[in-house]
Amino acid sequence: MNPFNELGIRSDIVNAIIELGFEKPTPIQESAIPVLLSGSNDFVGLAQTGTGKTAAFGLPLLELIDSDKNFPQALILCPTRELCLQISNDVKNYAKNLSNVNVVAVYGGANIVNQLRDIKRGVQIVVATPGRMKDILNRKAIDFSQVKYVVLDEADEMLNMGFQEDIDDILSTTPKEKKTWLFSATMPREVRAIAQKYMTDPKELTMGTKNTGNVNIEHEYYIVKARDKYAAFKRIVDYNPEIFGIVFCRTKIETQEIAEHLVKDGYNADSLHGDLSQQQRDKVMKRYRERSLQLLIATDVAARGIDVNDVTHVINYSLPDEIENYTHRSGRTGRAGKTGISIAIINQKETHKIRQIEKTIGKQFTKAEIPTGFDVVEKQLFALVHKVHNVEVNEKQIDQYIPRIMDEFADLSKEDIIKRFASLEFNRFLDDYKNAPDLNASADDRGRDSDRGERGERGERGPRGTSAGFTRLFINLGAVDDFTRGDLLGYICNNTGISGRSVGKIDMKGVFSFFEVETEFVEKVTEAFKPIDFHGRDVRIEVSGDATGGSEGGERRSSGGGERRSSGGGYGGGERRSGGGDRRSSGGGYGGGGERRSSGGGDRRSSGGGSSSGGGFRDFSGKRKDDGGGSSSDSGNRRRRS
Ligand code: ADP
Ligand code: MG
Repeated sequence: MNPFNELGIRSDIVNAIIELGFEKPTPIQESAIPVLLSGSNDFVGLAQTGTGKTAAFGLPLLELIDSDKNFPQALILCPTRELCLQISNDVKNYAKNLSNVNVVAVYGGANIVNQLRDIKRGVQIVVATPGRMKDILNRKAIDFSQVKYVVLDEADEMLNMGFQEDIDDILSTTPKEKKTWLFSATMPREVRAIAQKYMTDPKELTMGTKNTGNVNIEHEYYIVKARDKYAAFKRIVDYNPEIFGIVFCRTKIETQEIAEHLVKDGYNADSLHGDLSQQQRDKVMKRYRERSLQLLIATDVAARGIDVNDVTHVINYSLPDEIENYTHRSGRTGRAGKTGISIAIINQKETHKIRQIEKTIGKQFTKAEIPTGFDVVEKQLFALVHKVHNVEVNEKQIDQYIPRIMDEFADLSKEDIIKRFASLEFNRFLDDYKNAPDLNASADDRGRDSDRGERGERGERGPRGTSAGFTRLFINLGAVDDFTRGDLLGYICNNTGISGRSVGKIDMKGVFSFFEVETEFVEKVTEAFKPIDFHGRDVRIEVSGDATGGSEGGERRSSGGGERRSSGGGYGGGERRSGGGDRRSSGGGYGGGGERRSSGGGDRRSSGGGSSSGGGFRDFSGKRKDDGGGSSSDSGNRRRRS
């Protein structure tokens, strides 16, 4: 016998939920259904989000109502319109094979006339948000005098949203003998208080530890400087080519700004917040559900209770003001047994909040490092390779073109063709990221910021092993630019007029290099390179690993010409330019401007060589051979993700 049958659910319903993919009850369903089916208790069910609470109360309700009688017998109150629609759809789906079950969703922002008409037609189960429900009650358009069951779903949220009074008013229109079932992910004092107020001796079920995060969710945090936040966020997104995520912000404006930036940068993203009309919200949700949006940027209230399948990541672009909300946010992923990742992008000062959240959810965060530019490039490259490998070929349709295609490729080896296909996408990312800085704001870094310039720190923090009398310089050219050490030496000498003997060790990296120069020539070298560009990209020279950062930013930016230079941007610029032209014009809302770099490129750079994150500057020179310096500069907008 099907385990749902064993719990007392009839086959017509079981067959419907099997179609929804329910094979066996979740723990809360298993424990709650038998209790609720008895219909004789008030009930409090505490379980994390995504554990199947809707069916835990929805299935028993369907068993308990009398579908021959066409008046309201059950009322489900929930905090948001999205949730309201979701619950009513879920219940309708469970009831698919039952005749005469009428479920009506009542929520604000939609035409009340239609809802009134639906109610008039006869309904047994009303799913409602408190505001609109009260409105309809005030119009005396519904009669709750025979309601037997009231469900308060996401009770904690309803209280957070200030629905206490509305709920009081609504419940006062229902009979005293009704049973009240309260579901919540968390049990703050306020919820405990309403449980006491509305219920008599409720059966209480707590699944797992109260307030404990879903075990399927991993929690990570990244520490970045405020001005690097957007860039860091984007990099995390790029590092996860298959991301299907919800990004939480604190304010409506922030959601809009980020969504706009993302769209300009070529992502499929949109914002969801309380200022949208219902129609707009529906549209956004529909696009997200259908996955024509890859990223949904939302406020807490707007995204409450959203149940979209297979959300891979929840990103806390800003941490919530209320710790409890973190649970709600992260609960959008890791649903129905799937795994998910909840990410917080924070600044150094917010680490204590992470500790608080850890206490609340009873789970540890992992401190993660913002991927390096090359990590991203590599990840994207292999995502593309896998995609090519696994793409479904429509043999019939493509057959007719094959001879011509073959013809076109006749002069290319298999290897050449593969390289070219890969380069199609790869070049863009390479271009975006080739000069990308390390965005991790390490604790170390902070110390440097604060005491910058006050001591002669070069000795302490400069890279070890600089030859006596020499200063180590950074240059934003490297192996990817097809330089060998000898080439670079020649290039330096030719452009500066200093002799090869004045140049010391040369340390070639992927997208940048270090070279030593006799200390007396440092200024000469930096000055000499100021007007110089390499394939349209400013060449930047900086003293490596020291505190000149404060003035560097300005200096760097002043060199080179207008539009072009930002594409060169070099160290800080790689990120910035990724959106191509538009991005820049959208104005530095998110650290897009040059300011970001003023924190001393040196610090970051020095971590480039050794730290775990920086170690990723791998050498892609071989792969870039036929990509002349300028050839990919027209990539402009980022590709759209499907
Ligand atoms: P909660 O209200 O606890 O946050 P939901 O009721 O929204 O969780 O359920 C989360 C997801 O799990 C939904 O997509 C739902 O369809 C699915 N689900 C619920 N019960 C089961 C089950 N027994 N087997 C498989 N999937 C389930
Ligand atoms: Mg729910």
